[in-house]
Amino acid sequence: MSDVMINASNVTRNFSISRGMFRGKKTLRAVNGVNLTVKRGEVLALVGESGCGKTTLAKILLGLLPQTAGSITLCGKPINEVPRLELARLVQPIFQDPYSSLNPRKSIGSIIGLPMHVQGVEDSHAIRRQVETTMDLVGLPSRLFGSYPNQLSGGQRQRVAIARALVNRPQVIVCDEPTSALDVSVQSQILNLLSDLRKELNLTYIIISHNLAVVEHIATRVAVMYLGRLVEEAKTTELFARPQHPYTVALLESVLTPEPSLGIPNTQLGASYPNPIDPPNGCAFHPRCARAMPQCSTQAPNGTRLGQAFVECHLYGDESH
Ligand code: SF4
Repeated sequence: MSDVMINASNVTRNFSISRGMFRGKKTLRAVNGVNLTVKRGEVLALVGESGCGKTTLAKILLGLLPQTAGSITLCGKPINEVPRLELARLVQPIFQDPYSSLNPRKSIGSIIGLPMHVQGVEDSHAIRRQVETTMDLVGLPSRLFGSYPNQLSGGQRQRVAIARALVNRPQVIVCDEPTSALDVSVQSQILNLLSDLRKELNLTYIIISHNLAVVEHIATRVAVMYLGRLVEEAKTTELFARPQHPYTVALLESVLTPEPSLGIPNTQLGASYPNPIDPPNGCAFHPRCARAMPQCSTQAPNGTRLGQAFVECHLYGDESH
């Protein structure tokens, strides 16, 4: 079996935005020519500021949103040729807010078992057995089978959301900010649980996160997005030790350190995030870039391979990706 779970080639997603009755429409390029390969067992983190396109890209990879151009394969098959039920068996999401993603009127057992019903499983004993096995896997006691979401803590609810995603034993999990709605004290428990489950079930994760500490803790590779483009991609240890793209450098420097004597770091991101409907010419990052050169405002950089990493910036040559 191939090791490649997801291969995205030149994936683009445009939205048509109305600007009022007399001003016509403009195209918002939410994802712009992204190339990505995710191998079995990898944890790929998508990072970048709000509006950079990471959630749109994740929805495309989940099959929830068609791409405007480009192609995606899932386990070697074009994603748009995978029947919906099979897609739901292979790829499952975990959303950020366990408070709103669980139906308050359904018991924990029926919430976790619902994806089995959707897949056509009718044997209620088989469903109960699988739900209890999965509850055990995510650290939920089986006595909570008949409880309701409002009787559970935030951490337990996120475990229910994880159990629901895993009950049909998918291969790829897309986690959108999996810990951002949780207390700091339970965040690391959930991250450790996700890591353990990955090893136990040989899962592949795509994690969307603003939190670089979460990314460093759990991801094996990181893809940095800016205005719909993938600007840097590297192994997590490499990216945190030697970030190459000026945007990645600024993102890492923008993380406040717990050491008060170091003060507020210089983020180098002085100018505000550009309007995605009207992105700057050339390199879209140039108005905020501390290392911008004259050609950066007129000429978009091509991607360059640096060993196993990828970076899109004029500082690193202009070979084609
Ligand atoms: Fe900065 Fe130029 Fe590189 Fe863009 S291409 S990140 S503006 S140096």
